[in-house]
Amino acid sequence: PVIVELHDVIKSYNTGAAQVQALRGVSLSVTAGEYVAIIGPSGSGKSTLMHILGCLDVATSGSYLLDGDSVEELSEDDLAQVRNRRIGFVFQQFHLLPTLTAWRNVELPLCYAGMPKAERKRRALAALEQVGLADRADHRPNELSGGQQQRVAIARALVTDPAIILADEPTGNLDSHSSDEVLRLLDGLHRSGRTILLITHEADVAEAAGRVIQVRDGKVVDDHEAADRDHHL
Ligand code: ADP
Ligand code: ADP
Repeated sequence: PVIVELHDVIKSYNTGAAQVQALRGVSLSVTAGEYVAIIGPSGSGKSTLMHILGCLDVATSGSYLLDGDSVEELSEDDLAQVRNRRIGFVFQQFHLLPTLTAWRNVELPLCYAGMPKAERKRRALAALEQVGLADRADHRPNELSGGQQQRVAIARALVTDPAIILADEPTGNLDSHSSDEVLRLLDGLHRSGRTILLITHEADVAEAAGRVIQVRDGKVVDDHEAADRDHHL
């Protein structure tokens, strides 16, 4: 099935007198289980696209079908639920709460869903196990390396069993060793059937994905299957 379907998406920003068109007619579709990188230089529209894909913002025109739902027709409350349950966000800056242990960070999306505590803990520990950090469940972020913190953030993204994982420059704040670790983890999640959208400005990071979509000046200028991806892992 198709999980993400954008059709002719335009996004304009009004900045006083001027109007900037950040996206100028983007159409793309992503099938369940695909691992897609979206690459482009600074200013090309990646963040804008990521905000629309993540239901953090809505398009000026065009349509977005996410896992069967027409996003333009959803209320603010519905959109908040979609963000919480259907999308797993991973950010460059991890965005972990410093006072909470790893498993407490991971269970957060489930708290909003009103799940009983024992069940939340069980799921949080299972997600930490998936990212290889079961033995760090009681550590706080400052007791973990950067790569480990990002893996905790990935566990938090997984814990709701989302339709897509949306990773925005997930290796942007990591050294090359930790970057490789995170890319290997994303690859493993892809192999186990997850749908992953990775946003990056680095070509060698994009090559970790099975398909690379290139954005420039608010448009898709290239969309191809990545060659010899195993070579890069
Ligand atoms: P990227 O993430 O690839 O750097 P962006 O999506 O951030 O690209 O930006 C695309 C274009 O839209 C740029 O010209 C940028 O200046 C403009 N833009 C982005 N966000 C805003 C905003 N909130 N208000 C006005 N212009 C914006
Ligand atoms: P990695 O295996 O991700 O490269 P590092 O080599 O950076 O991890 O760290 C090795 C171990 O040191 C980690 O398992 C982590 O528990 C611990 N550690 C790393 N950074 C810190 C820190 N800032 N404070 C406390 N412990 C840390």
